[in-house]
Amino acid sequence: MRIILLGEPGAGKGTYSAELVKRYGIPQISTGDMLRAAVKAGTALGRQAQEYMKKGELVPDSVVIELIRERIQERDAAKGFILDGFPRTVPQAQSLEKMLESMSIGLSTVLKIEVNKATLLRRLTGRRVCPNCGATYNIDTMKPKKDGICDKCGKELIQRPDDRPETIENRLAVYQKDTAPLIEFYEKKGLLRRVQCEGEYNEVMARIFDSLEKVAKV
Ligand code: AMP
Repeated sequence: MRIILLGEPGAGKGTYSAELVKRYGIPQISTGDMLRAAVKAGTALGRQAQEYMKKGELVPDSVVIELIRERIQERDAAKGFILDGFPRTVPQAQSLEKMLESMSIGLSTVLKIEVNKATLLRRLTGRRVCPNCGATYNIDTMKPKKDGICDKCGKELIQRPDDRPETIENRLAVYQKDTAPLIEFYEKKGLLRRVQCEGEYNEVMARIFDSLEKVAKV
């Protein structure tokens, strides 16, 4: 399956992707994670991306398109993939379409994660991540066993710099301006499925899996 998860920052794309990885055995491809890895490694790409990321702006299309072009051709992506955080603009979506066409493959579906603004803000401000293994927690809803410590590797959890309140509003505004037009873009192609993602975690996951059951396994 080739799935795009579309939704505001904080909607839960990363968390839900991790569950889809377990169920379908296909990789999660997150441009945000790839860019953060480049920032951490101090590469030229990372240094360029960091300037945009810390302000909550989008990294230029050309940069993320090249990252994705290489990543989807890797071996583990041959069976399918979950795109988390890409595409984020119409030009990115158009480039993806061309890439997939040239590989003679298509998208299975685009899942639009629907949550209200209060939930987004709670998920963003409460998110804590492990700088070592990337595991994600929430101080209200997905607490680690020991406060502030990663369950998986024991490292101290941090707040992403772009999850601070001053950056969050900008990220949400950028989403409305640049990413929300993708809803119509994929709706017109008959690929969009909206999933209501408010409420208890297991129920939300059941709704997501239910929605994917109806998708052709292309
Ligand atoms: P995320 O982890 O998906 O919330 O992404 C964190 C940040 O990385 C975003 O606020 C952007 O600065 C950058 N980023 C991630 N994915 C993209 C993308 N597809 N296009 C442009 N910038 C991106």
